Amino acid sequence: MNKFAQLDRKFVWHPFTQMRDWLKREPIVIASGQGAVLRDVRGREYLDANSSIWTNLHGHQHPKINSAIARQLKKISHSSALGYANEPASLLAAKLVQAANPKSEIRNPKLEKVFFSDDGSTALEVALKLAYEFTRRTRGKTAGRASSRAVTPKFLSLDGAYHGDTIGAVSLGHIDLFHRAYGGMLFRTDKVMSPYCYRCPFNRAKPERADARNYRKCNWECVGEVEQKFSTQKKKGNPYAAFVFEPLMQGAAGMIPQPDGWLRQVADIARRHGALLIADEVMTGFGRTGIVAADVRRLIPNSRKKLEPPHVGRYDGLFASHHEAVQPDFLCLAKGLTGGYLPMAATLTTQKVFDAFLGEYEEFKTFFHGHSFTGNQLGAAASVASVEILQTEKSIRQRAQLQKNLHEVLQSLWSLPNIGDVRHVGLVAGIELVKNWRTREPFVLRDRAGIRVCEAMARRGVLTRPVGNVIVLMPPYCTTKAQLQKMVSTLCEAVTEIFPVKNQASNPRRQASV
Ligand SMILES: *Cc1c(COP(=O)(O)O)cnc(C)c1O
Repeated sequence: MNKFAQLDRKFVWHPFTQMRDWLKREPIVIASGQGAVLRDVRGREYLDANSSIWTNLHGHQHPKINSAIARQLKKISHSSALGYANEPASLLAAKLVQAANPKSEIRNPKLEKVFFSDDGSTALEVALKLAYEFTRRTRGKTAGRASSRAVTPKFLSLDGAYHGDTIGAVSLGHIDLFHRAYGGMLFRTDKVMSPYCYRCPFNRAKPERADARNYRKCNWECVGEVEQKFSTQKKKGNPYAAFVFEPLMQGAAGMIPQPDGWLRQVADIARRHGALLIADEVMTGFGRTGIVAADVRRLIPNSRKKLEPPHVGRYDGLFASHHEAVQPDFLCLAKGLTGGYLPMAATLTTQKVFDAFLGEYEEFKTFFHGHSFTGNQLGAAASVASVEILQTEKSIRQRAQLQKNLHEVLQSLWSLPNIGDVRHVGLVAGIELVKNWRTREPFVLRDRAGIRVCEAMARRGVLTRPVGNVIVLMPPYCTTKAQLQKMVSTLCEAVTEIFPVKNQASNPRRQASV
């Protein structure tokens, strides 16, 4: 066995991994990467079909990002943001503010301040703490002497949500497995149904060989549920402080895409009830949700008016919220921020939130939060380069092409009976494995359906990781059509290898002829 594989098995504990399974085999040891290709220590090549767990944007070893890091390396790698400013972090903050307020139409509210941290979880913690304290300070006390205590601000997030692994982020999330494990450590947050059209109890449509969002039959009951949730909470005398969501598509919840118009409608409801909007764009940010989206000009004039989808237009924004002309009060960024090269995160917010933390020193209104590596120079230099690449015409064209290619190559998947739903948003796709597409019958987690398919893909040279029974395809933006075709044909082969029995059993004549 390779030396590094041996060391890994002896000393390393891997995240979200049953280590007993891990220790049964020799791990793939990645040695280098170029574009969408990863190479292991044995010289074997793999396609990076989930952009190294959703982080990589432009491919590995991008010359512009490499040289930005190298240039910064010759000056300094890190000095503290506790007490000092630095060059790349200042520049990056300005660039993020510019990118987050892209058109004059989406200016309400303006995102003007950037708080740096280390990863997606901390980006959410920062938003959570700021929203909590902002609400306490601005809403004041409840009425009446007997109950003259500060209200505890409450948060609403989506069913199945994943917002990270620190305690605050897990509290915001609603994944039963994690809550069972850490329930005693968490604070309570409320959840509301997410618009999971494929498995929606309100969707009366029979399964078809198409994206469930497009053939669903419903009356937007999911939006009604959100309305209901907000008004019930208001009656309790403590309206929600903030509504937390992943815009356009929930990632770790199972690659659950939202039908056009959902976000716009629920954002309006939340605003009407005075809640802050916290957009978790850790996965969706930086162009991942694609090029085509809401026609901003048509949506904005009367933001209170209920909009009837479809209202799709054209918009080249980098953030998913803007596709529905929604501007949050907090924009949480991580994964792709540095192009996927270094751990760094940012939480953008408004002047209004910022101002609530201003005061005389001894008033102690300071935001008491920070990390050792806040505003790290290497990460900031990589991020500046990455954002600049994203704003080039070449990158926009490349992404538009990739989006089109992805849509085309995904179509072949509908021919497989064990694929129930193919969910495509921009530059990401979730492919849901089922026992039978006609009944939508799911595999139980114990079946390890997603894991087995991904293992079969890895044997064929394509690396990705499932979310339960959902296979994720999230190619780096530099992925060619041939590479994309290989990702999808490999997925087809893997599914056929893992689930051959059913097809043959239902067709005994074919079995006899083999
Ligand atoms: C990955 C992810 C997080 C957590 O980010 P880490 O960098 O792993 O802490 C939070 N929210 C979303 C939507 C994510 O995809």
